[in-house]
Amino acid sequence: MKIADCITKNKKKTKEIICPACHFRNCRRHGKYTRKGFHIPNHAEMGLVDIPRFLCRNPDCPLCTFSILPPGVMRYCRFLWTGLLSLKTALEAGVSPKRLAENIWHVGQRVILRAAQLIAYITLWVTGLYQELTAKRPLQGVGATVKAVTEKIGRFELHRRWYRHRYPRRFPDKTERHTI
Ligand SMILES: [Zn+2]
Repeated sequence: MKIADCITKNKKKTKEIICPACHFRNCRRHGKYTRKGFHIPNHAEMGLVDIPRFLCRNPDCPLCTFSILPPGVMRYCRFLWTGLLSLKTALEAGVSPKRLAENIWHVGQRVILRAAQLIAYITLWVTGLYQELTAKRPLQGVGATVKAVTEKIGRFELHRRWYRHRYPRRFPDKTERHTI
């Protein structure tokens, strides 16, 4: 599988970048950084992903700079979202972590176990969030739940809440200006 197939490319050229925190329009491009070393099934290609950074020019905004991750790319995680979902499906279907590690992902078994823990944790958290937002019964499947929550509050807000929950020290809920 090619990394380009794993990441749905947003081909729409966005002329105007809107700050996700204060909705200030026309943010300026502020360099980029490169993510590399993703876990890709079969290792057919180890691609690099450029992540653009932007500067919000509103002096009252809580963010200085922000980056926009391509769909499916998560911070601090070498698995793409689709990869985590397929891993979960395989484990639920009874494929052993050892087989997944050795035959499909070509990583250590511990990497698979950590990813399984992560997706279990995300499932629990996002299911709780879905119920809090909708007061409805949980949906079947973490993919559907994430989609429903994204439609309700937007991708940026979902990410903001998740990273603040998961990494409270790196993403403190302060009003002072900081970088995400
Ligand atoms: Zn802003």
